[in-house]
Amino acid sequence: MSDSQPFEDLKQQVSAGKVDTVLVCLVDMQGRLMGKRFQATNFIEHAFEETHCCNYLLATDLEMATPDGYAATSWESGYGDYVMKPDLNTIRPMPWLDGTVMVLCDVLDHHSHEEVPHSPRAILKAQVRRLADLGYVAKTATELEFFLFEKSVDEIRKSGFSQLEPISGYNEDYHILQTTKEEDVMRPLRNHLFAAGIPVENSKGEAEAGQEELNIRFADALDCADYHSIAKHATKEIAWQQGRAATFLAKWDHNRVGSSSHIHQSLWTDKGESVFFDADAEHGMSDVMQHYVAGLIKYAPDCTYFLAPYINSYKRFSAGTFAPTKITWSVDNRTSGFRLCGEASKAIRMECRIGGSDINPYLAIAAQLAAGIKGLQDKLKPVPATQGDVYKRADAKSIPPTLREAAETLQKSKMLREAMGDDVVDHYVRAARWEQEEFDRIVTSYEVARGFEKA
Ligand code: ADP
Repeated sequence: MSDSQPFEDLKQQVSAGKVDTVLVCLVDMQGRLMGKRFQATNFIEHAFEETHCCNYLLATDLEMATPDGYAATSWESGYGDYVMKPDLNTIRPMPWLDGTVMVLCDVLDHHSHEEVPHSPRAILKAQVRRLADLGYVAKTATELEFFLFEKSVDEIRKSGFSQLEPISGYNEDYHILQTTKEEDVMRPLRNHLFAAGIPVENSKGEAEAGQEELNIRFADALDCADYHSIAKHATKEIAWQQGRAATFLAKWDHNRVGSSSHIHQSLWTDKGESVFFDADAEHGMSDVMQHYVAGLIKYAPDCTYFLAPYINSYKRFSAGTFAPTKITWSVDNRTSGFRLCGEASKAIRMECRIGGSDINPYLAIAAQLAAGIKGLQDKLKPVPATQGDVYKRADAKSIPPTLREAAETLQKSKMLREAMGDDVVDHYVRAARWEQEEFDRIVTSYEVARGFEKA
């Protein structure tokens, strides 16, 4: 693919002296961009073919630890290299950095040059292929919610994370006035992403002091996940450039609402027609949509780890905060785990509200597609829509309430094992259990303050 148009354009920009740096990135298990900063000339002459990285990048945690227990990677096997293979069609400018472009890579085995199956991009591509085999294309959109803080991340860290003043003093849901005061971050964020080819729709204030939402137009699932990872990265970098901090923690304060990443999803033909809409059906939901949604509901517990990957993620599932607690679907009802949007119209879609802002979008979307595909294969019928305040529905099934439970549900998931393969599921079960083990080991400041004298 060395003759791709974006690569040809890059060569011209390099020879014109407009670009000097190429960020060569993979997406790690946490959905972060990891890689190297290439001198542009070296990239267009050599590294465009491939470069290398230590294989622990797909077996580490947020802190870059080297946990044991991964079959793919270990001290025993010497932590060798993976190949990073640039997908030259993903070359795009990073206009908030001078003279810099980026490219996303697929991660390949060093010897076989096959894609590493537990690489997040590979996992999503596999589900997209399974869906294509059924004749469908998934269009998805992931909303990005996050909090902005007055001080920079470096100041906050040096204060021991005590100086956490949100950028605004009040709930700014849909506020034009308050969000004007945040345009030092949000305007360059929207404009730079748009210039990078990411179809930003809008940003808005969210339902808490300092909380923002960024919306990107729905796209093919892989593009959507690429957009999400790059937009999240850009948010942190642009906030840093402006002396602010952004957090995508799902719940940074138990007294405030958490941040979500809702996933809107619909299926289409490869000719660009939605197969979710049937004007004659109840709510306008076609049979295809009903089967797909039934799969999402039935397998929501299996998918929960991929929607809530950390201990902290589960603190967001709290009644009365707009975050769901129950596995139900409802028509345009924000208390439900799944919300039907665009009822009886061509824009009909299902919004999964379970995911927090801390998702890895590739894994979260892949798990949703796997659940939906199973619903299609087994022609499942959804349970009826739930009405009213779903938080109060004692008869409705709860979202797994802890990481421990979600990890064990993932471990036992026949559906995900069939869809993703045992090696992939075992890899992420290990990641989940490692998060739990670390938390179980660490004495928190909460415990010390609570019990120091009183226990
Ligand atoms: P909300 O009421 O949740 O704020 P919005 O109208 O802002 O919903 O839309 C949320 C997201 O849904 C947007 O990113 C939009 O591009 C996406 N979207 C719209 N139509 C579809 C569709 N048919 N399939 C998937 N996503 C869609």
